[in-house]
This record gives sequence, structure tokens and C-alpha cells, in this order.
Amino acid sequence: MASRIRLIMKLRTSGVQNTDVLAAIEHTPREWFVEEAFTDHAYDDTALPIAAGQTISQPTVVAWMTAALELTPAMRVLEIGTGSGYQAAILARLARRVYTIERHRELFLAAQERFNRLKLTNIVTKCGDGAKGWKEAAPFERIIVTAATKEIPAVLLEQLAPGGVMVVPVGGSVADQILLRIRKDESGNIATQHLMNVRFVPLVEDK
Ligand code: SAH
Repeated sequence: MASRIRLIMKLRTSGVQNTDVLAAIEHTPREWFVEEAFTDHAYDDTALPIAAGQTISQPTVVAWMTAALELTPAMRVLEIGTGSGYQAAILARLARRVYTIERHRELFLAAQERFNRLKLTNIVTKCGDGAKGWKEAAPFERIIVTAATKEIPAVLLEQLAPGGVMVVPVGGSVADQILLRIRKDESGNIATQHLMNVRFVPLVEDK
């Protein structure tokens, strides 16, 4: 528990000010989302390997991305790239419902089990290609993509509600990825803002 508090203090000093986001991180046991071999490092501010050659994101990045979404409790959020399920678990504490898609069955099943254990009943999971979005449940007030795309995904932009916000890492190579915040206004106009440099595993498009 002491290490979890240390992490929260580190997030604060690195400029994360949103107290709802900090509380959601404080109440989410990251050790449940990492491989057993990394339990001792669960509260280090680093990305860690998970199954299928993927990674659980660095807590600072999770905090910034969550804050960038500007969530309110009534919102429905779509996440692409469930991975360990950690980011989804945090979103679930701040939004009405989280829809999350993962293409690796092994990760999808493990994440679902964690959500059950944590009684996070407002998370809906799907195993499949997130690049196609979740048409039946669209539009979403918020969309978060946790794998890097070459371009802003047009399909996801279509599934973003008017007045909505999407946070997505974009970049051709790992070295030049930037996190973008995209706002769609009520008339459907798009405005893009650069937030920070990031490093994500690629979004794989199943043909
Ligand atoms: N949000 C995760 C970390 C994501 S790592 C967490 O909190 O742990 C990126 C994830 O995106 C990986 O698990 C990868 O398998 C998944 N991914 C990549 N391309 C995808 C696609 N097209 N559809 C769904 N998931 C995808």
C-alpha cells in the first residue's frame, strides 16, 4: 500500500491535478493487472510486459490520458486495446459504461476475469478488431485508443458523438509517436491538439 501512495505522490508532482483521476488510480490495485513475476514492480512508474508480447501502460501515461478525456460520470467510453484491463478499470470508476476491445483472446479472457473479481460490472468486453470500433454501441462520448495508429482512425472518428473527445497515439514509428486529443464539435468539425510524446505498441489492423 505504501508503494501505491508513493506512486500517487509521484503522479501529483509530475503535474496530474485531476483528483478524480488520482483517486481512481489509488483505488485500482495495479498488482492484479501485472504478471506475477512483476508484482514487486506494480507501482513503479513504468510500462511492464504482459502476455502476447504486449505491455501495460506506464501509470503517468494512464493518468494523463484519462485526465485528457475530461470524463463525467454519465459518459460512455470506448477503449481500443484492453491489454491487461488496467486502463479500463480506471475508466470504469469515472464513467457510466466502458466498452473495451482486445484482439488477443488470452488477454481478453484474463482482463474479463479481473473485472469480475473487482466487481466492475460497468465494463463490456469484446474480442476482435478494435480498428473497426463497436458499431452497435456507437456513438461514444469518449474514445481512447491505447495502441499507436499511423493515422487518425476514420472509423473511430465516425463513432465519436458530436461534442465528443478522442485520445489517440499517432505516429509511423515508435520514436515519433505523439498523443493527440481530438474534439468533435456539435456540427461535426474536428480540432486536433498535440498533448505529449508517447510510446505504444502498434494498433494491428486485421484484414
Ligand atoms: N490499455 C492496456 C494497454 C494496451 S497495450 C492496459 O491498460 O493494460 C495495447 C493493446 O492493444 C494490446 O493488448 C494489443 O493486443 C491491443 N491491440 C492492438 N491492435 C488491436 C486491434 N486492432 N484491436 C484490438 N486490440 C488491439
